[in-house]
Amino acid sequence: MSTPTIHDILPLSSWWPGTAKPLLICGPCSVETEEQLTATAQQLAATGKVQVLRGGLWKPRTRPDTFEGVGATGIPWMLKARELTGLPITTEVATAEHVELCLKNNFDMLWVGARTVANPFSVQEIADALRGTDIPVIVKNPINADLQLWIGAMERFQRAGINKIIALHRGFSHNAKSIYRNQPMWELPIALKTQFPSLPVFCDPSHICGQRDLLQAVAQKALDLGMEGLMLESHITPDEAWSDAKQQITPARLNELIEALHVRTATTNDILFSNELQALRASIDKIDEEIIQLISSRMQLSAEVGRYKKKHNITILQVERWKEIMDTRSMLAANLGLSADFITKYLEQIHKESIRTQTRVMNETSAKSKTL
Ligand code: PEP
Ligand code: MN
Repeated sequence: MSTPTIHDILPLSSWWPGTAKPLLICGPCSVETEEQLTATAQQLAATGKVQVLRGGLWKPRTRPDTFEGVGATGIPWMLKARELTGLPITTEVATAEHVELCLKNNFDMLWVGARTVANPFSVQEIADALRGTDIPVIVKNPINADLQLWIGAMERFQRAGINKIIALHRGFSHNAKSIYRNQPMWELPIALKTQFPSLPVFCDPSHICGQRDLLQAVAQKALDLGMEGLMLESHITPDEAWSDAKQQITPARLNELIEALHVRTATTNDILFSNELQALRASIDKIDEEIIQLISSRMQLSAEVGRYKKKHNITILQVERWKEIMDTRSMLAANLGLSADFITKYLEQIHKESIRTQTRVMNETSAKSKTL
């Protein structure tokens, strides 16, 4: 595997002039008419909180014969909205032609959508068209939960000389029944941030949720995880929107949502807080050590059970015993306030490892008996 290069990415504070956190990129899913965009932009600017105006000109739609965006016709409307409000503007680009049009018209930021990021040919085409510029590029996660594909897209932009990159988490396509339009799978943006600490990671609650009721909680969760910005869709009359009507909110509602957010900091200078946090972490370290030691002792006992079963010619898998373990441990865990899902996953892993250990022991014994 090639060495990822995106750890050299510029932190947001080194290139973004605003200091307000989180950075808020808001606007309609699609640019529809000059009036719709102008009115939405003016109300968003009036909140004093929105820092970048988004508006989709070219819309990737699942089915043909749905509204596919006003295209280049809407560029002058975006420029006018910027002039009226002073807000920088951003739109989605999916081809070299889109990039050229946006660069020609001095867009302030560009974003690459989830469907495009899933296609390395398209990403390369866009990256090549951007060569020689230093415009900030927002790279949404690909629709499928593939971290390498997301990283690969960012590498392509960086190799084309783009260093102002934002990774944007907008959830992942899924078949399971879920309250979300796109499954958040928070572990993926967390893994990305862990691997590339300076990379700005934003969240797009609108496309994760697909409905208005969940936006607040998802936006809050993103901030709690230390995400540095949010992209939220807002429309002057959301119910009449030509795309993504169910997830868009009015600028007034957006203002309330932002006001209700708790913004937390990653670090603090408060010595008392730091000392208490350190004490709590020390206790957690100790418990983790004990848990690992206990798991090791448990596996040694599993090995002993394996030897014993072998001696008495008994199968490794004992369904009744496994059921009894699941029932008793699940009940104990529930009484202690642990979630059923968590404890089931834990027990399944323990059982899997126990079977692996017993199998190893049985094979070892039979190898020995062969040599005797
Ligand atoms: C959008 O931002 O309107 C959009 C199409 O998003 P995504 O690429 O995340 O589906
Ligand atoms: Mn949308």
